[in-house]
Amino acid sequence: LIPILLHFIFSATTPYTTLPSVLLVGPSSAGKTALMTLFERGPLYHNQQQQQGNNKSTVNSPVAQTHTSQVSSAVELAVSSPGPNQLSSYRDDLDAQGATAKRFLLVDTPGHPKLRSQALSRLAATTPTITLPSTSPSSSSSSSEINKSKLKAVIFLVDAAALADSDSGALAATAEYLYDVLLTLQKRFHRRTGSRAPASVPVLVAANKLDLFTALPAALVKSNLEAELARIRKARSKGLLDSGVAGDDEGAGGVDEMENWLGGVGNEKFSFKEMMEFDVEVEVIGGNVIGDGPGADKWWKWIGERI
Ligand code: GDP
Repeated sequence: LIPILLHFIFSATTPYTTLPSVLLVGPSSAGKTALMTLFERGPLYHNQQQQQGNNKSTVNSPVAQTHTSQVSSAVELAVSSPGPNQLSSYRDDLDAQGATAKRFLLVDTPGHPKLRSQALSRLAATTPTITLPSTSPSSSSSSSEINKSKLKAVIFLVDAAALADSDSGALAATAEYLYDVLLTLQKRFHRRTGSRAPASVPVLVAANKLDLFTALPAALVKSNLEAELARIRKARSKGLLDSGVAGDDEGAGGVDEMENWLGGVGNEKFSFKEMMEFDVEVEVIGGNVIGDGPGADKWWKWIGERI
């Protein structure tokens, strides 16, 4: 009887068999590694602010390694609600949050275009899960806890300063990637089997580097991306028609074309709101990881509300 009782006690107090995850995607140099480090070193960031640059050697938080992104990496984070309509900050020490904290994994993905399919393939499943690399920092905890993680949300990090430079090609490149992310999520909606809707995966377009005066404000990041997504959607559908795919294949091309059309049909303009038709919530919020600006608090809050 005692072993059975123990089993019940333990299974009742284990909050998760798997920690949920948030996927961090976006083009190279958007600041993904910097953001992971900021969130992981939250207590350090706090200390540095408090101490105004005094003895940094007092800090004992784990430090994320800067790495050349070839493979995914994950950090375990925690967010808690100290009171109604309140969320803890990433600057709070997660160990001090105790049992009320909701733990999750922030999973970074390689930004290089050739490695993007890896990130996209994770979004395609009806119930997207992430299989974590064995080198993940949380692999010291029990393996059943970290192997497969349910994907709760996607953060698409954007370099708002690069977007402002119209000669850089950053807007087109960023929007191409975002188009593929959103289209992958939209396709899940069509592929559902039976009446069960796929788990909804909201997307935060995080406009980073707003500390730089050259950066586009979040509202312009939003409208520029929407305009570029509309152009891509038109160009891609035209490409299909020109290649004869739509005409030759007795209507099959038409289906293809519809499948690759992002958002609502029949609109010339594209708006992120159209994605709600496919249960994909998209929000654009500005912030910065380094320097003076709005910071990362609103992004943290967005995550906390969706975990
Ligand atoms: P990743 O390729 O997406 O992982 O980008 P990184 O994290 O390596 O960042 C690319 C560069 O942008 C680095 O030099 C960072 O220091 C810089 N960076 C990241 N976030 C910010 C920010 O909020 N403001 C500014 N000014 N620079 C940033």
